[in-house]
Amino acid sequence: MGTFIKFLGTAGARIVVSKQIRASGGIWFQHDKLAFFIDPGPGALVKALTSKPKLEPWKLSAILLSHRHIDHANDLNIMVESMTEGNTKKRGMVFLPKDALEEEKVLFSYLTPMLQEIVLLEEGKEYSIGNLRFATPCRHWHPVETYGFKFYLKDNLTVSFITDTLYNPKLQEAYQKSDLLIINMVRTKPDNANAVMHLNADDVEKLVKAIKPKMAVITHFGMQVILNKPWKIAEEISQKTGIQVVAARDGMQLDLESIFKNSVQHTT
Ligand SMILES: [Zn+2]
Repeated sequence: MGTFIKFLGTAGARIVVSKQIRASGGIWFQHDKLAFFIDPGPGALVKALTSKPKLEPWKLSAILLSHRHIDHANDLNIMVESMTEGNTKKRGMVFLPKDALEEEKVLFSYLTPMLQEIVLLEEGKEYSIGNLRFATPCRHWHPVETYGFKFYLKDNLTVSFITDTLYNPKLQEAYQKSDLLIINMVRTKPDNANAVMHLNADDVEKLVKAIKPKMAVITHFGMQVILNKPWKIAEEISQKTGIQVVAARDGMQLDLESIFKNSVQHTT
């Protein structure tokens, strides 16, 4: 089965998501027999089931929500229903920020009795799903409570997801020693007032330079990025940083064992 990450969508922000210019189904993460899901946006269930080969949500052990915005959380309930086999089997965990459970309840109450555990995410904490450890090293700068994830895989491989956030220097420290860095890059340029609180291409360049992963992937594209061709922006960042940067495509699968087979040791 192996370890892979499959992008069931690469859309970010309002226009690209609401017009489905890119899909917005979130990310399936398979780590040997353990499967979990990150940010089930609109279309997550359908994209999983129509994926080839089919990804079966009733095999998920957990669903992780970085924050409660609709492009990340829309399909949370239906994915929970599928994970619990139509709300008939008590199984699976949901990890989410407190404000997604209290301030704006994005998880329906009637589904919660069938979940094995609901875990609130907090800054600087570690968690486990089966034998997989992960951390939420810092709270992101975003209009609602938001966290990124750092997964500690077998063979000393660290995979980090920098989800929605405004750039801040704390991110470099928080996500250091990541072998694979996945970054939500919604914009090419800063917006005037930084009101949307998202990363742009210059921010990604700074982060890649500072963190020095073996490979970086950009995803969660807004309209500006789509119009400027994500793969061109990725290529530019690669040239400026000397690190391989790839623009995610809908349905793209990263097989971590083949990408990292010769280099799983950290250079400090
Ligand atoms: Zn957001």
